[in-house]
Amino acid sequence: MFNRNEKKMLRFSDFLSGEYARDYIHQDTPYAEQIERSAKLIREADYVLIGAGAGMSTAAGAEYGGKFFEENFAEFQQVYGKGPYMQDMYSAGFYPFPDQESKWGYWAHQALLAGADLDVTPLHKTLLEALKGKKLFLLSTNADHQFEKAGMPVEQIFQTQGSYRLIQCRRGCHNKTYDAVELFRQMEQARRHAKIPSELVPRCPVCGGEMAMNLRVDDHFVEDENWHAAEERFSRFLSACRDGKTVLLELGVGFNTPTIIRFPFEKLARQHENISLVRLSRSKAVVPASLGERAVGINADMAQSITDIADILRARDRGAQ
Ligand SMILES: [Zn+2]
Repeated sequence: MFNRNEKKMLRFSDFLSGEYARDYIHQDTPYAEQIERSAKLIREADYVLIGAGAGMSTAAGAEYGGKFFEENFAEFQQVYGKGPYMQDMYSAGFYPFPDQESKWGYWAHQALLAGADLDVTPLHKTLLEALKGKKLFLLSTNADHQFEKAGMPVEQIFQTQGSYRLIQCRRGCHNKTYDAVELFRQMEQARRHAKIPSELVPRCPVCGGEMAMNLRVDDHFVEDENWHAAEERFSRFLSACRDGKTVLLELGVGFNTPTIIRFPFEKLARQHENISLVRLSRSKAVVPASLGERAVGINADMAQSITDIADILRARDRGAQ
């Protein structure tokens, strides 16, 4: 019964890391060469674990501030003033809304624009197309479901920080989340002067208290049944990665929450010689010098880098036929 060769399953909790690399370097290899090396690593890999952060959605075309915010959130700027909050979708989420009618008036709007109604998937599709044939899994800190929309099976996705589709008890009194997209649409229809009618304010079905978005902002974040199932599948994939050639393909992960993708990826590559790291970022693609040839860090427009890597993979696939 007992198989001593069987390796211990690597869980998500073992994978997480707070260890900052002390030997970061900006690789000065020419761009074209870096693209070639990335494509080669990916082509030779059995497993590709994608780690996606906010930079991936931005590179794909998602907008959060500037003119986009002015145009889409004018009603909220009129009611609350622009101030320090009503500048972009990130800052506005911290506005101290005076009541639940105002809170949901705002959040329903953001949840739809940044979630259910967002479609910036052409870049995601280009990438997925180029990775066809690989054993693939996505670890994402984004709540916007863009890889899923691009056709990636949900069974291959672990979205750790929540979802723009779901709400939960604000105090996390029970381990369930609720799909609220239809409710958000009703709120959008009924909103006047940045507020929704009281009858649309959701209440926790268990404790009767306030509800909140299922986004990890504090200790009350609910990890529901689906979250745990995704964690289980991720852990199984991660454990399998130790036995084949693996590329950790990191897309647009900065230093806001580095302990979920960036540091763990560095740790994995450090510990396993069969695992390489390809890190794409507009400006934060420093990589640990100690990983040597097993790390490629490309500081460039990510939409361009992804397209260039995909082009090479496609061209070689054609050449091989
Ligand atoms: Zn509750």
